[in-house]
Amino acid sequence: MSTPTLDGCGREISYLRVSVTDRCNLRCVYCMPAEGVPDLGHNRMLRLEEIARLVRIGAGLGIRNVRITGGEPLVRLGIVDLVAMIRAIEDIESISMTTNGIALPQFAEQLAGAGLNRVNISLDTLDADRYRTITRRGRLEDALAGIRAAYAFGLTPVKINMVVMAGVNDDEVVSFAGRTVSEGWHVRFIEFMPLGEQARLARASYVSSTVTRQRIEEAWGPLVPADIEGFGPARTWRVPGSDGSIGLISALSQHFCSSCNRIRLTADGTLVPCLFSDLAYDLWEPMRAGADDDSLRDIWLEALAHKPAGHHLERALTTTSHQMSRIGG
Ligand code: SAM
Ligand code: SF4
Repeated sequence: MSTPTLDGCGREISYLRVSVTDRCNLRCVYCMPAEGVPDLGHNRMLRLEEIARLVRIGAGLGIRNVRITGGEPLVRLGIVDLVAMIRAIEDIESISMTTNGIALPQFAEQLAGAGLNRVNISLDTLDADRYRTITRRGRLEDALAGIRAAYAFGLTPVKINMVVMAGVNDDEVVSFAGRTVSEGWHVRFIEFMPLGEQARLARASYVSSTVTRQRIEEAWGPLVPADIEGFGPARTWRVPGSDGSIGLISALSQHFCSSCNRIRLTADGTLVPCLFSDLAYDLWEPMRAGADDDSLRDIWLEALAHKPAGHHLERALTTTSHQMSRIGG
């Protein structure tokens, strides 16, 4: 097994998030403009074999856990094949996926068979009208069917991602926390991040994780630490006695930069060492020009060496140009 590579700040980078498409079947208000994002174009999109090759090079540098994201990963043709290709890479220990869940009834069984370990499903409300408003086109019943399919085929622990927005869905925080008790859900409450064109809305609708936690504790009593498997920045808690868990993802109010172990690969072959910096390392062009693995590995190493130590997004009035749907959260 390869030795993990340290970044320029001495952090071990073992977690790769791969955005496999910038397209999506929804248009969530916090993520995309109503008209969607400009199409990358077929040629600019990495082929499945190219993604697998880059993941293999990353595995040689210490990547152990891969999360497939998007856009919506389940609209990418050949997604099941891609999971199987990544599963075949030595040193990759776990493969997870972040999805809106709409197409999981169709794909959950095949994905599990190909080696996907678990899913995070984005669900911001349990009210059908609100779901339609937030996603601008989705049906709540489809997302709930996706959650059931994930459980049915063992893509567990299923985690529910809820972006908390003031005046939009923050009144549902307590009932989502209730599902961790009644249904054993693992809910991750995410602070609205001011990325791309959604930055203005984010500043108007921002609710800090501290406020979210206070609301939950007022209703459910003091939370206790929970030790839930995961590779990301969530601190996890639980209502005492519940089977589920509560994660609080506070990219803005409480940095997790010093322990950040991740790097991102976009659908057009760019390595992005930090979501909150414009630093980007192109792999697409050299790869299409015929670069060998060693040259691509050198670009990986450069990206790792320059991963920023931290961000100060909470102080910034404007933010990076990364669009969430392109980079995958
Ligand atoms: N389409 C998939 C989905 O929705 O789960 C995967 C891609 S989506 C960009 C990944 C995650 O980013 C989702 O959980 C979504 O809720 C979250 N997200 C998108 N925009 C965000 C924002 N501005 N702030 C915080 N989280 C955001
Ligand atoms: Fe699509 Fe996911 Fe973005 Fe919603 S959050 S628009 S489902 S990529």
